[in-house]
Amino acid sequence: KPGGNPQISSALMDQHLKATNGKVITRFPPEPNGYLHIGHAKAINVNFGYAKAHQGICNLRYDDTNPEAEDEKYLISILDTIKWLGFEPNNIFYASNYFQQLFDLAVHMINKGLAYVCHCSGEEIHQQRGGESMGPRFACKHRDRPIQESLDQFYKMRDGRYAQGEATLRMKMDLEDGNPQMWDLIAYRVLYATHHRTGNDWCIYPTYDFAHCLSDSIENITHSLCTTEFTQSRKSYYWLCDAVDVYKPVQWEYGRLSVTNTILSKRKLLTLLNDHIVSDLDDPRLYTLPALRRRGVPAAAINGFVRELGVTTAKTTIDVSRLENHIRDCLNSSAPRLMAVLNPIKVRLTNFNNILDLDVPFKPRDPSFGSHTIPFTDTLYIDSSDFRLEDTKDYYRLAPNKTVGLLYAPGPITCTQVVYAPDGSISELLCKLEDGSDGNPIPKPKTYIQWVPICPERGSPVTLDQVRIYNNLFKHSNPFDKSLVPDGWLTDVNPNSLQTEKSAMIETGIFDLIAKFVNDSDKKVHFNKKEFEELRFQFLRIGYFCIDKDSIFSDNFADLCKNSNANQYHE
Ligand code: ATP
Ligand code: MG
Ligand code: MG
Repeated sequence: KPGGNPQISSALMDQHLKATNGKVITRFPPEPNGYLHIGHAKAINVNFGYAKAHQGICNLRYDDTNPEAEDEKYLISILDTIKWLGFEPNNIFYASNYFQQLFDLAVHMINKGLAYVCHCSGEEIHQQRGGESMGPRFACKHRDRPIQESLDQFYKMRDGRYAQGEATLRMKMDLEDGNPQMWDLIAYRVLYATHHRTGNDWCIYPTYDFAHCLSDSIENITHSLCTTEFTQSRKSYYWLCDAVDVYKPVQWEYGRLSVTNTILSKRKLLTLLNDHIVSDLDDPRLYTLPALRRRGVPAAAINGFVRELGVTTAKTTIDVSRLENHIRDCLNSSAPRLMAVLNPIKVRLTNFNNILDLDVPFKPRDPSFGSHTIPFTDTLYIDSSDFRLEDTKDYYRLAPNKTVGLLYAPGPITCTQVVYAPDGSISELLCKLEDGSDGNPIPKPKTYIQWVPICPERGSPVTLDQVRIYNNLFKHSNPFDKSLVPDGWLTDVNPNSLQTEKSAMIETGIFDLIAKFVNDSDKKVHFNKKEFEELRFQFLRIGYFCIDKDSIFSDNFADLCKNSNANQYHE
C-alpha cells in the first residue's frame, strides 16, 4: 500500500461510510480527448478488477475539464470501448457536473486563506518555482493579498472580466516543501472555450490538480487508483482535500503500461494522422483499443494480456509479441478455418473431370464448429507463392515436374506443364492429380498447400477487392531510442506496415459462416453491422482475418449466400 492511508477525521469518515455502506468504490477517469489505448486497458482492468474483487463498484468518470481538446465523439467511443472489453460501469459521471460545487469549494478555500488570485505570467510562476536551474523558490506579491481581495478577483475571473492569462487561482501550499506538487499549484484558469456539455456557462475551468481529487472525493471514491507519475501528486491530493475539509480517498499508484514498436501518446497519434501515415485513429496498425478491435483482436486477448502482467508499480514497456501470443491463443481456439489464396494462380487438372464434394470441418478435431462442402473439380487456384519455376532441394512446394499436396484433396498434384499468356506471364499450370487411378504409386508430398476451387455449379469463390496485412508500424522496438533512430521517431515508420492484396480469393465456405450471423435475410446487409465484428477466420497457412468496417455487400445478402458471384462481397 504505497504511501499508507491518509489520516481522516471521524466525522468525514462517518459521512463517507454512510454514503458507501463500507463498499469499495473505484472509478476509471479518462479525459475524453482521444480514443482509449492498450495502456487504458490496464487502467480499466485495475479499477474494475479491484472493485469486483472486493464486491464493490466501479464508475466511469469523464474527466472533462479541458474543453479545448475534448469532443463528444470520444465520450461515445470511450463507453463503447469499455463495454466491448466486457465491463459495465455502475455509474457514469462527468467532472463537468461538479463545476459549481468545485467553484464553491474554491471560494471556501480562499475564505480559509488557502488560495489566492495571482496575476503572474507562466514564466514568472516558473521563476518563482526555482526556474530552469532549480534555484531558490520565492512567493509572488499576490500570495499574501487580503482574503477579500482574492475573493473579489475570483468572482471577476468567473464573470469574464479577465482575458486568458491575466489571472489564475493558486493554492497557498508550501514553497519550503521538497515536493514540486506543493509549490502553489494553479487551481483555476481563465479560458474562453465552449465546453461540450456546459457550453459557455463558464469562462474559468479547474485544473486537473484541483478537479481530479475533489471529483474523487465528491463521488466517495474509496481507492483512487492512478499511474505512478502521480506519486508526487499524492501529497497535493491529500493536502487539497484537507484544505477544503472534504473526505479524502486513498491514492494508490500502479505502473503505466506501454508496448514496443508503437506509440500511444495522443499528440503523436495526431501527428501520424496529419502526416497521412495512418488513415485514422482506429487504423489497425495502431494500439488504440478501437484500432485493435478493428483489426480483429478479441477483447479477451487484451484482458488476458493485461491481467497476466499483473499490477506492479514498475513502468513497463512490454514486447508486443506477448500481446500477440494472447491474440493467437484466443483466435486459435475461436476462429473457424477457411482456405484462401492471396495471389491466385490457376491450376487445371488434366486427368480429372468430376465434381467431388468434400466435407471439410471448419476446425479440425472440433466438431462443434461444424463443417462445409468444398467442391473438388478440374479447376482451382493456388497461391503464386506456392509455385516456382526453378526447383531447389530444400523447396517442397509446386514446381515443374514436382508434386505437392493439396489440403483435403483426394490426392497430391504434379505440375506437368506451364502455360504462358502472350505477354509472357503464366496463365495456368497444367497438373496431374495423383490419385493412383493410373496404377502408378501415389507420390508422398513433403508439404500440403491451400487452394480455392472453381465450380460454377456450386457457386463461385469470393473475390475480395482488398486484403490488408499489417506489420509493426515502427521498425524499432523503441522508436525514441536516439542511438538507433537518430533522426527522430517519425523516420522510424516501417514503409511495409500495410501490405494490400488486390486479387485474393476465398472458398465459398465463408458464406456459411456469415449466414450464421445474419438473421434477417431480407435486408440489404451493410458490413458495419456489429455482429460481423465477432466473425474472425483463420485463412489456412496465412493468418487470422476479419471483415473490416469499410466493407460493403453490393447485393442482397440472401441471394449472395445461396448463389454467390465473384465481386459481390468486398472487403
Ligand atoms: P495520455 O498520455 O494517453 O493522454 P492520460 O493519463 O492523460 O494518458 P487519461 O484519459 O486521463 O489519459 O487516463 C485515464 C486513466 O487511465 C487514468 O487513470 C490514467 O492514469 C490511466 N492510464 C492512462 N494511460 C495509461 C497507461 N499507459 N497505462 C496504465 N494506465 C494508464
Ligand atoms: Mg492525457
Ligand atoms: Mg489525463
